[in-house]
Amino acid sequence: MAMIFKGSEVTEALNERIAADVEELKAKGTEPALAILRVGERGDDISYEKGATKRAEKVGVAIKNVVLPADVSEDALINEILKLNADDSIHGVLMFRPLPEHIDEDKVRNMLAAAKDVDGITDLSIAGVFAGIETGFAPCTPSACMEILDYFGVECKGKNAVVVGRSLVVGKPAAMMLLDRHATVTVAHSRTADLQSVARQADIIIACVGRAKMIDAGYLSDGQIVIDVGINVLEDGSLSGDVDYEAAESIVEAITPVPGGVGTVTTSVLMKHVVEAAKRIRA
Ligand code: NAP
Repeated sequence: MAMIFKGSEVTEALNERIAADVEELKAKGTEPALAILRVGERGDDISYEKGATKRAEKVGVAIKNVVLPADVSEDALINEILKLNADDSIHGVLMFRPLPEHIDEDKVRNMLAAAKDVDGITDLSIAGVFAGIETGFAPCTPSACMEILDYFGVECKGKNAVVVGRSLVVGKPAAMMLLDRHATVTVAHSRTADLQSVARQADIIIACVGRAKMIDAGYLSDGQIVIDVGINVLEDGSLSGDVDYEAAESIVEAITPVPGGVGTVTTSVLMKHVVEAAKRIRA
């Protein structure tokens, strides 16, 4: 049976370190603070906001909620971002996406100061991930995958890693982070030929496809470490990852559950980035 890489274990260890860092910053007169900028009333955004607020309370990060109506004008939204950029009491900004269709998302997301871009949404932050420089922050989700690998002592050096999915939010940055850890990385996608045999060769799989249970027994082999990023809502309302968990459990060496895996770690990574942003400003 596979070892279960529970997100809660990683989160507990991370939270302890973050809370200690927050105490240290507060003793020096800085209270790390995150602004959560939400446009409209999307259920997903509201529930992430609740989770992030709870996590922030736990580690001592202050939260400022900024909620704008779904029909807010592009100029008004940009104005709000510029105000947050200029506000010295705010160290990080989380802006939910997708934004409403009448807003040019690429233009708006790049108005955020990279120094406060704690979820890696600006081109400057992403460029930093690819160039290996700290212009901003890496997106929280692929960072959470790396936190899990690190916490459970998975050695990436020299291993074959297959990332299934190539979005700018998850797949591409995850591939860069694995390369930084000296893995040999294959990035697979919807046009990859014979994906099953490509995946079976992997020592480490990061599944970020957005298709419930797609990575089934045909993609898996003995000894693999499987990180399941997918969050898919099934017809009965329950959540499933991109990996067929029941099939994987009896084949692979270790797997992250859904829910309770990557998603659990993501909000702690967000807090870690806020604290790092506050430290960088002080330095
Ligand atoms: P996305 O932008 O839709 O990207 C999906 C990727 O999967 C694309 O690169 C696509 O390939 C590839 N793909 C789709 N169907 C495929 C197939 N049949 N075979 C091989 N590759 C296929 O999704 P995303 O934003 O990266 O998110 C991926 C998953 O992670 C979703 O389930 C999402 O809900 C979840 N997620 C979780 C968290 C978390 O905190 N746990 C955060 C963000 C996202 P092409 O490029 O060729 O189209």
